[in-house]
Amino acid sequence: YLELKDIKKSFGTGENRTQVLKGISCGIEKGKICVLLGPSGSGKSTLLNIIGGIEKADGGSISIDGELMESMNEKKLSLYRRKHLGYVFQSYNLIPNLTVRENIEVGAYLSSNPLPIDDMIKTLGLWEHQNKTPNQLSGGQQQRTAIGRAIIKNPGILLCDEPTGALDYNTSKEILKLIEDVNKKYGNTVILVTHNDAIKNMADYVIKLKDGQIRKTDINENKIPAMELEW
Ligand code: ATP
Ligand code: MG
Repeated sequence: YLELKDIKKSFGTGENRTQVLKGISCGIEKGKICVLLGPSGSGKSTLLNIIGGIEKADGGSISIDGELMESMNEKKLSLYRRKHLGYVFQSYNLIPNLTVRENIEVGAYLSSNPLPIDDMIKTLGLWEHQNKTPNQLSGGQQQRTAIGRAIIKNPGILLCDEPTGALDYNTSKEILKLIEDVNKKYGNTVILVTHNDAIKNMADYVIKLKDGQIRKTDINENKIPAMELEW
């Protein structure tokens, strides 16, 4: 269970100081898919970074399965980031001088229970591309590699920042199906940031961020499989 309580975050100093998150509270049950919607600049990536332990909130608390993140020492936090968290960044952040396979292997090395790499590469549809470097890949292939690197860890929590942002319709649906399949098979908690309103239909929870606050939290009783989404 992931619980956020009154998370606050500001950037800048003096006159330029703006509060991006003004007290975010919500709980996400294990194994659920949560879609996070909100306009550009509303603080979606910031919130993901705070959950991911790479940015510190100014106030509030996060607990993971009852353990407060604030009370973790640097070593424990590092362990959490490396082993228990999969993070797919808005800009894929692949390592340019490593091949597809090697980029995914980086994720596997970090984990104590990685998923089998050959299966992963096949599931991602990257088998024929596994020896290419990122500059030889299309956007969709790069995104699949980034997702592979995150999910091969079989992380408890998978954070995906705009995983379909730069992809066409069909590739987007394939990526969403992949995330959905992994969630179904391994029960990872997924938080998925998107601008695309239609994607909320595949989620258990929908959270809308606006003006630093949560505007709506729905529990979706009638989830639609990723491949059946339309927009
Ligand atoms: P988008 O949909 O465009 O990705 P977002 O909802 O992810 O937007 P954030 O990236 O979280 O938005 O940024 C929220 C606000 O905080 C923006 O105004 C941004 O300029 C500001 N911001 C984010 N990170 C920093 C930082 N490290 N230093 C200063 N300001 C920041
Ligand atoms: Mg963002």
